[in-house]
Amino acid sequence: MSDNELTHPGGKLRLFVGDPLRAGACVVPDEQQTHYLLHVMRAKPGDRVNLFNGADGEWVARVTGTSKRSCSLECERQLRQQSGEPDLWLCFAPIKKTPADYVVQKATELGAAVLQPVFTRRTIVTRVNLDRMRANAIEAAEQSERLTVPDCREPLSFDKLLVGWPRDRRLFFCDEGGEALPFPDAVRNPPPLVEGGEVIVSASPAREVSPEPAAIFTGPEGGFDEHEREALRALPFVTPVTLGPRILRADTAALAALTIWQSIKGDWR
Ligand code: SAM
Repeated sequence: MSDNELTHPGGKLRLFVGDPLRAGACVVPDEQQTHYLLHVMRAKPGDRVNLFNGADGEWVARVTGTSKRSCSLECERQLRQQSGEPDLWLCFAPIKKTPADYVVQKATELGAAVLQPVFTRRTIVTRVNLDRMRANAIEAAEQSERLTVPDCREPLSFDKLLVGWPRDRRLFFCDEGGEALPFPDAVRNPPPLVEGGEVIVSASPAREVSPEPAAIFTGPEGGFDEHEREALRALPFVTPVTLGPRILRADTAALAALTIWQSIKGDWR
């Protein structure tokens, strides 16, 4: 009976599963995971793989049985308690295929909790492959040793996104044109959000423990149009921010903004 921990070039083999994880729990991986275990990793009974499901932490599981097309695993011991990512959403205008995969993968590694594609007026892409988005997010979560997978949401139109926006969540609008706070300053000392004279989100102290719920919004290759920029700037929960004097590509902007937020208010400290 082998007793080895399955690894691959990226490190420990970790699989995201849908089953509950606890000592003795039996887990049957999905078809794709089974194929990978049996035919790529050549898993044998006694081999070990790490499992997580976004709720029960990370567990070491032992391969208990294999056949041509199936394998079963049994949870042995918990490696890590469950922990989540900071409450940070990324709203982004989807861009052409490769960079979009890239944005999903990197945003997952950078700890975004929600990935929300938004169709703006200048968005060239007309549809988003949500299955592909979710598969990219799961793979990046497995590789980056996250214990959660970001919530990849159905795309929304610009107007739909804003109509249903949760008032207590600040939306950092990455705006390369016009007056805007330098993003690091806005994250460090976010101005109070006021609606109808009433403070809906107070200015939070620079080093509070759990940061306010936040979101970052970046536009498409062609940028937000004037109507969208005006609409965003008129909303009480929006804080326009600049990412510096250069025009960043849409994917660069999204990842730069996530990095700045994480390094100041997120879980990098
Ligand atoms: N309007 C830009 C132009 O004139 O080329 C194109 C948009 S830029 C490629 C894509 C998105 O990245 C923008 O809509 C904005 O959200 C964000 N972005 C790029 N550079 C930025 C900057 N310096 N400050 C804030 N946001 C920026």
